[in-house]
Amino acid sequence: MFLVNHVRKWSILSLFAVLAGFLPPFGTLAEARDPIPVVVTIPVLKDLAEQIGGQYVRVTSLLSGYENEHTYSPKPTDLVAVRKARLLLEIGMGLEVWVSSLVKNAGDQSLRVITTSQGVELIRDDADAHGGTHHEGEAGNPHVWLDPENVAIMLRHITQAFIEVDPGHTAEYQANQAAYLRQLGQVQKELLERTQRLSDRRFIAHHPAWPYLAKRFSFEIVGTIQMQSGTEPSALHLQSLIEKVRRENIKVVVSEVQLSRRLPELLARETKAHIVVLTAMPGGLAGTGTYLDMLRYDVLQLADALETIS
Ligand SMILES: [Zn+2]
Repeated sequence: MFLVNHVRKWSILSLFAVLAGFLPPFGTLAEARDPIPVVVTIPVLKDLAEQIGGQYVRVTSLLSGYENEHTYSPKPTDLVAVRKARLLLEIGMGLEVWVSSLVKNAGDQSLRVITTSQGVELIRDDADAHGGTHHEGEAGNPHVWLDPENVAIMLRHITQAFIEVDPGHTAEYQANQAAYLRQLGQVQKELLERTQRLSDRRFIAHHPAWPYLAKRFSFEIVGTIQMQSGTEPSALHLQSLIEKVRRENIKVVVSEVQLSRRLPELLARETKAHIVVLTAMPGGLAGTGTYLDMLRYDVLQLADALETIS
C-alpha cells in the first residue's frame, strides 16, 4: 500500500514537471507560439537564419536554390511573404536587384531590411576585355558567402537583428551563433588542409560566382565563360577561352547547376578539360542541403577533379 501510494505521488509530481517544462510561463505564451516571420532572398540566408534563430523564427526563402539569383523575378506569393515578415535578410551589393521593388510594393513601414554583406572585404570583378563586369552595381562581386570567413560576418548581422527584434531570447541567439561559428571554423580548417597539397589550382568558371571561394582556398580562376548574367558570351570570347585552355593545359571547367550546361560542355568538348558541376546555392545539388554541406561539396569536388585529372 505504501509502495503504491509512493509511486502514484511520484508519477503525479513528474507529470507536473513535464507539463511545466512544456508550458512557458504566462506572458511569454504568445511569443513562444509566434516565431518571428523572416524572409530571406536566397537559401544560404535561410540556413544561417535558422541556425541562429532556431524555434524562435520562421524563415521563408524567396529563391529555392534552382533559380539564377541575378535574373529572378518575384512571384505574387513573394509579395505576400514580404508583407507578413518583420525582417528581410539580403546579401546586398547588387545581387538581388529585384528586391527593392518587392519591398516598396509590400509597403510595410515596420519591415526591417538587413544587408548581411556589410563589413565584408570586397573583391571587385575584373572588367576584362571580353564584355565588362557581371553585375549592375560597382559595389564588388556579391557572392560573398562562398568564403566561410565572410559567413561569420553575415552571421553577426543576423544575430544582432534577431536580438533587436526579440531581446528576450538574446542568450539563445548568442549561444547558437557561438556553436555555429565553431562548426564553421572546423569545416574551414578541414577544407584548408584538403586543398593545401594541390599542385594545380586553376579552373575556368561558369559565371563569376567563385572569387571569394578561390581566394580563401587558393584556387585560381583563369577564365570565365559567362561574364554577364542572362547574356550569351560572344563567339570571340569562347574562341579565346578554348585557345587558352589548350595552350595552358587547363584541366577543369566548372559548370553551375543553375545555368545551362551547353557552354561548359562545348568548352570541354573542344579541349581536354573536364567538367565539374558545382552549386553556389545550398540545395542546388543532392548533398548540398546546408551551407556547410555545400561548401564541403564544392571544395572537395574541385580538389578531387584537379588532383585526379592532372
Ligand atoms: Zn551570380
